[in-house]
Amino acid sequence: MNTPLKIDFNRPAPVGREMEYVAEAIRGGHHSGDGPFTKKVAALLEAELGAPRVLLTTSCTHALEMMALLLDIQPGDEVVIPSFTFVSTVNAFVLRGARPVFADIRPDTLNLDESRLEPLLTPRTKAIVPVHYAGVGCEMDALLETANRRGVRVVEDNAHGLFGKYKGRYLGTFGALASQSFHETKNFSCGEGGALIINDPALVERAEILREKGTNRSRFFRGQVDKYTWVDIGSSYLPSDILAAYLYGQLEQREKIQSHRKRLWEFYHAALQDWAQAHEVQLPYVPAHVEQAYHMFYLLLPTLDLRQRLIAHLRERGIYSVFHYLPLHLSDMGRRFGGREGDCPVTERVSDQLLRLPFHNILTQEEQERVVEAILEFDF
Ligand SMILES: *Cc1c(COP(=O)(O)O)cnc(C)c1O
Repeated sequence: MNTPLKIDFNRPAPVGREMEYVAEAIRGGHHSGDGPFTKKVAALLEAELGAPRVLLTTSCTHALEMMALLLDIQPGDEVVIPSFTFVSTVNAFVLRGARPVFADIRPDTLNLDESRLEPLLTPRTKAIVPVHYAGVGCEMDALLETANRRGVRVVEDNAHGLFGKYKGRYLGTFGALASQSFHETKNFSCGEGGALIINDPALVERAEILREKGTNRSRFFRGQVDKYTWVDIGSSYLPSDILAAYLYGQLEQREKIQSHRKRLWEFYHAALQDWAQAHEVQLPYVPAHVEQAYHMFYLLLPTLDLRQRLIAHLRERGIYSVFHYLPLHLSDMGRRFGGREGDCPVTERVSDQLLRLPFHNILTQEEQERVVEAILEFDF
């Protein structure tokens, strides 16, 4: 038997003029941060999202760290975060001394369960960090209503959700701040990269300083001060303009990328619907008032054993599917903050059941057909 051609879970690839722009950035001689391509990317995102300011960062992790600094998180502050997320969502705040309070997720969208939010808030709660899982928007109306009533700030981890919308408004524009990721596993990539979206204009100036090693260098370059100096804490969160050039090539193709991903998602959904129903497999749910960002396609198998067996079954056929987040409240670190079994039952169940299918910008329909065929052959 021939070994079947491998179908990767993710494969980063240029889809437009990325190579040309990288060469231009190298030839142009501005290789450090905030060069011409960084400015183009920021302008594109500001115009598209209608955000007052977008700062490119070296990663989404660093954008989240900047958020924690901008919110002035202090030791003892509490931050409410879904247990079902990437470790950086919580680490950024723990680094400032915050105590994470883990929230459970809704069983349908796998987003922070807004109906169970209120009891988690205390007088020490400083922020709520919704994550738009798979690029499907959280219930922002209810979430913001609770947060505003209790005087707590909302900042979004929008790593999955760029160009997704909730009730017609872009994800990443609801919170005072939002983070984006341009890691190679995301819809738009430059290998490693991120952005901080600043929706509260009052936070713009300090954000620029934090990102520039605590100096007022950005104001200096705009001619607003005649020399630049150390004015605050800060770090180096600027990506190279060479990476921004690659990212600009990707973002320029945003319609092509998003429509391709939409086709992939709809193909899987249509091809697996009957199978899923027959075997009690849950497919992703997108509420009618949400326009998703088509970040991933997942299945929720009835049990952990079936999930593991399906991963192995696909792998034997050269198809790479993967599970996702382990509950953060049950991790070694999460337990140090008091996390215990049963705290977030939906997260605990979903983490065992979820499997992500191959999904990327150059996945072909032929490859998808092979994935679907292999799934339909799976012996339950
Ligand atoms: C990928 C991801 C991050 C981290 O992104 P980096 O750019 O790799 O730092 C954070 N949060 C979520 C939800 C993610 O999916």
